[in-house]
Amino acid sequence: MTRTVAGIEPRALPETGGVRQLHPAVWRVVAPNAGPLPGPGTTTYVGGGGRPVGIDPGCTDADHLERVLEVAGGAVDRILCTHSHPDHSPGAAWLRERTGAMVFGLPAPDDGHQDPTYRPDCGLDDGQRIAAGGMTLQVIHTPGHASNHVCFLLEEAGLLFTGDHLMCGTTVIIIPPDGSMRLYLESLARLRAMPLASLAPGHGAVIPDAAQEIDRVVRHRLAREDKLVRALGSRRAATLEDVLL
Ligand SMILES: [Zn+2]
Repeated sequence: MTRTVAGIEPRALPETGGVRQLHPAVWRVVAPNAGPLPGPGTTTYVGGGGRPVGIDPGCTDADHLERVLEVAGGAVDRILCTHSHPDHSPGAAWLRERTGAMVFGLPAPDDGHQDPTYRPDCGLDDGQRIAAGGMTLQVIHTPGHASNHVCFLLEEAGLLFTGDHLMCGTTVIIIPPDGSMRLYLESLARLRAMPLASLAPGHGAVIPDAAQEIDRVVRHRLAREDKLVRALGSRRAATLEDVLL
């Protein structure tokens, strides 16, 4: 049976610079870093009551970060980063400076694709529970897109903040050696076994049926892998372009 999150508007499309309340305890603020990869812009989520948490501050645009603080009631208790790619974490230092809140995230790998300003004050443990204004966020380590990637599950709503592990309307980039398709699929299998309702991605609209979407992504990845294996098996020697055609 599909679980749904009360009050949420799953397919409401994010707009660059847009602010929207998705759930009684969750706001979406879209950063003005639109482009081919981040689409309409990285989504910053503000969750929980009282002085809540901010997830993925996005870019350092002051207007965007002021909007984040506005929906958070002027301050955040904690700043959480799903990972340290340059479209997700640079705003963390600005928010820390402004509010004194600590930044939480896993250490960045040294692969040349990370936000150079990323300096988490605290690490995160798989399974750790973080209080968020009367609600609870569970940390789930999900390597694959990046080795230091985590998702956050708002337990009371079954809503998973997916960062770049799952996106709406597209598949995520896996760049080895830090990215790993094997770990990506293992992380998806772990999530599939959890009681998730909806997915709140770092890019794009909320995805309403988490299980269906995870199944779809796994099928797509395995089909691509199968196609690649067959293409390699049918040629004695081929260029990369030949195989990809
Ligand atoms: Zn990323």
